[in-house]
Amino acid sequence: MHELSLMASVMDIAREELSRHGASRLLLLRIRYGVLDQVQPEAMRMAFEAMTAGTPHEGATLELVEEPLGLRCSLCGHVFHPEDRNALYAPCPACGDTVPFSITEGEGIFLDHLEAE
Ligand SMILES: [Zn+2]
Repeated sequence: MHELSLMASVMDIAREELSRHGASRLLLLRIRYGVLDQVQPEAMRMAFEAMTAGTPHEGATLELVEEPLGLRCSLCGHVFHPEDRNALYAPCPACGDTVPFSITEGEGIFLDHLEAE
């Protein structure tokens, strides 16, 4: 249950944000997740519904935004956004070398935005 624990940690952050702003009811939660995290949006929604049912946050909107993969060549510094994650293991499209890429985008789960009252 990958999504359940992800959702639980996002909800922890959201609850902290709410109490910091003196709000008690979550209206909207936007989560960005990297394409590499292999998150199942439906499972995220189910986890969110299960976690908010019977709480003041029940009925809040959940927005899920998938972040594309961004890679930077560690040799020439070229940054690109491949459609296919296999680009991670392919030669750099700019210099043609097969050095490791660093991942600039597409990894991690973030609480991007929330609205509350
Ligand atoms: Zn390169």
